[in-house]
Amino acid sequence: MATASRHSPETYAVIVGAGSGVRFGRSKAFFTWHGEPLIASAARPFLRHADVEGMVLVVRLEDLEAARDLAGTFSKPTRVVAGGATRSASVRRGLAELPNGVGRVAIHDAARPLVSQRLLESLLTADAPCVIPRLPLHDALHRDPALGGGSVSREGVWRVQTPQVFDRALLERAHAGEPEAADDGELVLRLGAQVVYVDGEEENIKVTTPDDLVRLESAGVGVRVGHGFDVHRLVPGHRLVLGGVEIPSDLGALGHSDADVICHALMDALLGAAGLPDIGHFFPPDDPRYAGANSVELLRQVVVKVRAEGYVVGNADCTLVLEAPKVGPHRDAMRRILADALGLRPDGVSIKATTAEGLGPLGLRQGVAAWAVVLLRAVEAQA
Ligand code: MG
Repeated sequence: MATASRHSPETYAVIVGAGSGVRFGRSKAFFTWHGEPLIASAARPFLRHADVEGMVLVVRLEDLEAARDLAGTFSKPTRVVAGGATRSASVRRGLAELPNGVGRVAIHDAARPLVSQRLLESLLTADAPCVIPRLPLHDALHRDPALGGGSVSREGVWRVQTPQVFDRALLERAHAGEPEAADDGELVLRLGAQVVYVDGEEENIKVTTPDDLVRLESAGVGVRVGHGFDVHRLVPGHRLVLGGVEIPSDLGALGHSDADVICHALMDALLGAAGLPDIGHFFPPDDPRYAGANSVELLRQVVVKVRAEGYVVGNADCTLVLEAPKVGPHRDAMRRILADALGLRPDGVSIKATTAEGLGPLGLRQGVAAWAVVLLRAVEAQA
């Protein structure tokens, strides 16, 4: 996806999530957000970028085991280490874990889950020993009356974010003597070294208080819509499985898998919304692995693919056309099963059923069909 820069030194990311979460009320790094710990979302952009070879996760002692489990699911070599008493101390623990060949390091806060590939690309291609994202201040600044009051000029003042990208040797020098600072860029400035700034992103929110989770939800990183359709023939001697529920019926759906038209329509809607190829590409009908397959399991696999693209499901709306039998009594069970697979509450899934009023092949009970519309929400800023 992202282009590799020429001559770039071996690059690792150090993701720092060892804070006690005092202002947040609990461990931030392992707070579950859209089905995964915040630190996993923070790490994902580095897993996706071709220029990043590996990672070090710096976590609280009590999160070590969870972090090791998480690292085991990553596609790049990932080391895990317990943090120190301060952020700067935690960064030093991370630096100490870097493999020998690593010449460049991106320091990133586990509490920033919305780094875009565009931001990462601009940081990694800036070709300078210290590259930091910054944003202008738009609010006026006032000093607390207890500190003398008055206002503070915002002239020439910037907000800085992570990831911050450093020449490894420079950052190690900046950390020599175990200094303390709010960010690593400050330590490099103390050395008198030159800092190159790139444009930061408003969406690159740092989760500090529980209120920030609300900001995260509405970070404006985009929604996508997808549509899917599926139809299967109805024949005697087959099961009728709809939305993961087997419904007693004299006619069942003919298909290679369990022929669950609701799941199949949903899968195509999800894949379409994420801009991925269709269901036949991932689960070919002539592949013996999918003979009699449980379509709810296939749906779960699609949700994982969509999540890897940076999206979670917002809601899903399905319409089933089936002449008989009535599916109303099974609707709640279907919603529960589908909502679980999609990572939603049951009210996030709608299943509407209608007959075809005896018209056409569906009305003559020759087939069963379903349409689905889904909304995806980006939980990773898109490049
Ligand atoms: Mg199908």
